[in-house]
Parts: sequence; C-alpha cells; structure tokens
Amino acid sequence: MRGAAVTGSKNSNARILNGECFCRAVRYTVVDAFAYAANCHCSNCRRATGSAFKPFAGIARDKFRVVEGGDNLMIYGEEAGHDAHCRRCGSLLYSVVREGAFVHVAMGTLVDDPSIRPAAHIFVGSKAPWFEITDGLPQYEGHIVAG
Ligand SMILES: [Zn+2]
Ligand SMILES: [Zn+2]
Repeated sequence: MRGAAVTGSKNSNARILNGECFCRAVRYTVVDAFAYAANCHCSNCRRATGSAFKPFAGIARDKFRVVEGGDNLMIYGEEAGHDAHCRRCGSLLYSVVREGAFVHVAMGTLVDDPSIRPAAHIFVGSKAPWFEITDGLPQYEGHIVAG
C-alpha cells in the first residue's frame, strides 16, 4: 500500500538507538519510534551535508536526547528551528523543526539500525543534476502533500 509510505514504525517496543558525530564528542539517544523518514534533496540539506541528499527521520522532540557533549553543539538557527552540528568536527547531527516540536535526525549519524527506512524522495525539484535517483521510492517536487 503506497499511501502507507510515510507512516511511522510499527515497532512499539521502546528500543533506544544511539547516535554520534564523526569525532564522537557528541552522542545522543533516540527512541526507535520515528514518525517518518525521507531523503531530502533540497539545496539546504545538500549544502549542510555536502551530499546529494540528506536521509532524515522525524520524531517528537521529547523522544530525542543529547546524552553527551551537549556543550560541544554548534546551533545554526533559532530555538524553534535550527541545525545542530558538533562544533569540533562539524557533523550535522539533527535539526529541530516544526516550531520546535520535532527533531529530524540525520540518519547518517545513527549508530544503531532504526526500524524505519526512508520512504520517499522529497524536494526532488531541487535535486542535484549530477545525481540520478535509481530506486523506486515515490518522488515529490517539494514537501510530501498529505492525501
Ligand atoms: Zn564531533
Ligand atoms: Zn532539505
């Protein structure tokens, strides 16, 4: 059922996932209960990661916790919407979005395997011309539009 592509993980066990930056100064934990995950091709995500796109997984902010090295965070943006990098190594760890209610975890910084998988490509309208999407996931010009 294609319409289910953006629904969350069915895993109701409160498994805890670990994540960390390149230099491991910053570590976080997140409940394995992501609401959605996608690959974002927007130019901001491309520049923030230096990659063709950013695989990210969204979760309510209270299910995410920086457990080590919080004083090493470099916050780019405002309280209700920002990117959080390690200030030592520069890794983009997560973004606070949706008026501060959600965290978008940069999936490349997860140590453990989450139950969820990116289910769509978004902001394909801004995709890098040198990158070709070769999988069968649905593609959206911008944000996923509900329905
Ligand atoms: Zn680091
Ligand atoms: Zn993006």
